[in-house]
Amino acid sequence: MVIGILALQGAFIEHKKVLDSLNVDSIKIRQPKDLDNIDGIILPGGESTVQGLLLKKFHLFEPLKEKIKNGLPVFATCAGIILLASEIEGESSYLATLPISVKRNAYGRQLGSFIAKKNFQDQHNFPLIFIRAPYITKIHDDVNVLLDNNDSPVAVLYHNQLAMTFHPELSNNNYFHKYFIEKIVQNKSHLYANM
Ligand code: GLN
Repeated sequence: MVIGILALQGAFIEHKKVLDSLNVDSIKIRQPKDLDNIDGIILPGGESTVQGLLLKKFHLFEPLKEKIKNGLPVFATCAGIILLASEIEGESSYLATLPISVKRNAYGRQLGSFIAKKNFQDQHNFPLIFIRAPYITKIHDDVNVLLDNNDSPVAVLYHNQLAMTFHPELSNNNYFHKYFIEKIVQNKSHLYANM
């Protein structure tokens, strides 16, 4: 298995380190041909406006959108979920493959960065690291909410798209990376279609 990590801008190295620690091969995605032989892709945090521009500049925008629409498993964190969202309040959307609405930098200046602790599944005090995070304002269609924080969704799953507003790659807990890889292994032949 090889996972692509979009490496145009932002926290891509941190994702690579987590995959390395799980012994999962990865390649950096910087041009369309890099998308050819990957089993999944990670869209890292960073600055979505810059990433959106660079996706177009490097001719990755359309092929990436097509691949995601055709079922390529994608794991998006922070700026990555903004790239996927079908609606960005007050701004134009990017890939628009994930039917949710988000509001950028919605936690305000003071709360620009903070860590919340969350218990879920077998996880105790899982650190949700928010850095100038977007806020999910609406969930459409049959998007599953995997995790919420103060009653607002922070991690969602929609068919082949796993996306969260926080940064699991900056914690030392690899729960979501493992989850992503396990889903790919389990569903290799039909991706997430049956979820
Ligand atoms: N505020 C950034 C944006 O709007 C996202 C921040 C992040 O990825 N940590 O793109």
